[in-house]
Amino acid sequence: MAAFGSLFMPEMAISWFDGDSWSETEIVASDSIQLHPGAHVLHYASTCFEGLKAFRHQDGSVKLFRMDRNLARFAQSSALLALPEVNVAATEKMILDIVGRFASEVPEPPGSMYVRPTHFGTEAAIGKAAAPSTTSCQYVLLSPVGDYFAGGDKALRLLVDDNGMRCAPHNGMIKSGGNYASALQPIMKARTEFNADQVLFAPDGFVQETGAANFLLIDGDEIITKALDESFLHGVTRDSILTIARDLGMTVSERELSVDELLERAAKPGCEAALSGTAAVLAPVGTLIYQGKDVKVGNGGVGETTVKLRSTLNDIQWGKAEDTRGWLTSI
Ligand SMILES: *Cc1c(COP(=O)(O)O)cnc(C)c1O
Repeated sequence: MAAFGSLFMPEMAISWFDGDSWSETEIVASDSIQLHPGAHVLHYASTCFEGLKAFRHQDGSVKLFRMDRNLARFAQSSALLALPEVNVAATEKMILDIVGRFASEVPEPPGSMYVRPTHFGTEAAIGKAAAPSTTSCQYVLLSPVGDYFAGGDKALRLLVDDNGMRCAPHNGMIKSGGNYASALQPIMKARTEFNADQVLFAPDGFVQETGAANFLLIDGDEIITKALDESFLHGVTRDSILTIARDLGMTVSERELSVDELLERAAKPGCEAALSGTAAVLAPVGTLIYQGKDVKVGNGGVGETTVKLRSTLNDIQWGKAEDTRGWLTSI
């Protein structure tokens, strides 16, 4: 199977904003956008995206998971980047149209169709370093993905970084390209120097998130994770897992977690940690690396509660458990 996100459907849905209104959605070849080299996005990073999944159920139907949340975040990211306003109903229709067109290509679980709406400033205006693009483009690209855990469910190693930050704090809740570019150097350094998989950013000594996933500490019946604020990305998976955990009778504590408390709790037997995001749902964290030393989380392996929460969410996504909260949309 190709690497996650490197295989694409041959067509996508696209619409352009001309400064006045959005064009009718077109279905075009996936490699067919044409941009002026002076386009605002290429210089001033006026771009945001979303990531959601469509799942094939046993009866052959195809369902999108919590699309309303992703649409709302897409509109919010666009607004915070001063991009033209997206018409949520129109973007929703683009998603339904293109997923419907490729419904027969949606992989069986544990695979899925990853859906990538993207919005960026197109105005050819390199003088606009401090002004928004008046024109833009949005498209919805599809990428069939296989089992995220095909290589085995390996517990991740996270470097705890209480020095740097992932992105500028006021940009944290925007799903925007520049934030990932900004986190790349610390992540690459952590890989080469500490054989870490990811960096857990903890600016000022308080746990935030990694480069592309939210962080959850699971201590017995309690889940501790940072409360929502503008400094980090509000994951749909985070919200889904916390909802499921509450329903299972767990205590959910959305609050600040200092690095000191994290390390102290993590070292206790039975403690677990996980990263949440659409790609993996929940990926277990086995080791925290802090000031050059490895600290095992619990027994350092794949946590039981992590696996249970993940499979409870997967069951809803895959149609093996009832969707009591209206999280699925049929196409
Ligand atoms: C996308 C993303 C997440 C996870 O969000 P989901 O909606 O759960 O996929 C977390 N952190 C960052 C920085 C992200 O880009």
